[in-house]
Amino acid sequence: MKTRVTPYVDKIINHETEASWRLQCWQAGELEFQVLSAEYTDVVHLDRRSCICHKWDLLAILCSHGIYAIKLKRYDQCDFSEHWFSSDCYQATYNDVIHATRDRKQWGLRSDERV
Ligand SMILES: [Zn+2]
Repeated sequence: MKTRVTPYVDKIINHETEASWRLQCWQAGELEFQVLSAEYTDVVHLDRRSCICHKWDLLAILCSHGIYAIKLKRYDQCDFSEHWFSSDCYQATYNDVIHATRDRKQWGLRSDERV
C-alpha cells in the first residue's frame, strides 16, 4: 500500500513540482532524460534514482528534473519516494516514544544532582 509523505517532504515536492513546470525534457534512453531549464541542462536516470543536479541523490527527495521525467513516463511518483519519508514510517518511528511529562519547573532533582 502506498502512503503519503510527511507534510515537510510534501512541501518540498510541491515546490519542486512547480519548478518542473518551467522545464523541457527529452527522453534519451528507456529511463534516461535530458532536462533543460533556462540556465542549465540536467540528466536524470530514473533507474538509478539520480539526477546530475545532485538534489535527488543527496536529499533522497525528488528534484524538479526527476519529477518531470516521471511525469513524462506516466509513472507514479510514489514509486520513487523513499519509504522513510512516508507518514506511516514517521508515525511508526515516533509512536510510543515521546511520553507526556510534567512542566520543567515541576521536575524534581535527586539529592546528588547539581543545577
Ligand atoms: Zn535534478
